[in-house]
Amino acid sequence: MKTAVFSARAYDQRFLDEALGQNPQTQACEWVYFQATLGPDTARLAQGCGAVCVFVNDCLDAATLQALHALGVGAILLRCAGFNNVDMATATRLGLFVARVPAYSPEAVAEHTLALVMTLNRHTHRAYNRVREGNFMLEGLLGVTLHGRTVGIVGTGRIGLATARIFRGLGCTVLGYDPFPSPEFESLGRAVPLQVLLAESDIVTLHCPLNEATHHLVNARSLALMKPGAMLVNTSRGALVDTHAVIHALKSRHLGYLAIDVYEQESELFFQDHSGKIIDDELFQRLMSFPNVLVTGHQGFFTVEALREIAQVTVGNLRCFVEGAPCPNAVLAP
Ligand code: NAD
Repeated sequence: MKTAVFSARAYDQRFLDEALGQNPQTQACEWVYFQATLGPDTARLAQGCGAVCVFVNDCLDAATLQALHALGVGAILLRCAGFNNVDMATATRLGLFVARVPAYSPEAVAEHTLALVMTLNRHTHRAYNRVREGNFMLEGLLGVTLHGRTVGIVGTGRIGLATARIFRGLGCTVLGYDPFPSPEFESLGRAVPLQVLLAESDIVTLHCPLNEATHHLVNARSLALMKPGAMLVNTSRGALVDTHAVIHALKSRHLGYLAIDVYEQESELFFQDHSGKIIDDELFQRLMSFPNVLVTGHQGFFTVEALREIAQVTVGNLRCFVEGAPCPNAVLAP
């Protein structure tokens, strides 16, 4: 059986080929790679395939799912944990199999969160350029000592817990907010209501899923509750943050720093080379104009360990679909 892999880059191909080759039960399976993102206009590329394999910015809306179903595609294999990009009502109606990779190296995203905080706080990105030009002045590079600061973790699941361990290791006071608190967090920090976390934290970092309840969790009201000069970090999903509100908070100097690995309109930009082109997204360009904003292009997961785990779990999910076996990672199994 053929599987059309959308949004495929060389690194996806490397780890997916490796994982399929290591699994004797899936030798009759084959990947067909497409750089294109999946959407209503590209669904026809899956002609002749029994499954599609997709990533965070592929669009699996009703029209796309119907087009895939008409081609005989029966399975959606997500190479990620979140499935907010899948129209689940349509997938259910069409009887599609949908499986994800629920967890892959949560430490990878937690470590990237630390990288963003460290870079923005100590201005290492600016220092790197300055020293290369022979400028050894320190003006503009002043940071704060993180030891003793308060870090608020919104969502104390797998990545939130890994992030809590790191900041606790740095000597920070760790606060956590989660409507379904995990007992593991009790030894790492203090569980508090969201309002308290926002009011007391020097750094607020988001590690919750995107759903109706968390859409624009960070908005004008929640930003106003944050300490003046605090840092906001989002490595989870772009739409957790209202970008207009965050720009306003940066312009008013209330929000001290913003570090994001995800952006609400990222599907138009991320995972593609736009250098030499005009970027039309005014909000993104406004964000880029602030010296206290750091943006990376959804690379939190991007480690060898995580890519290997994603590929292995995806092959396991494919095997369940092919064999009609129960799949522990299915979000929808007809
Ligand atoms: P998880 O399911 O293990 O943990 C999420 C936690 O959020 C859970 O404990 C849940 O109870 C909590 N939560 C739910 N609703 C909440 C709310 N309203 N407020 C606060 N907490 C809430 O998920 P995870 O694997 O830790 O992933 C966390 C986030 O990271 C997800 O948004 C995921 O999509 C994102 N992610 C990003 C990357 C990247 O490369 N940047 C990679 C993997 C995952």
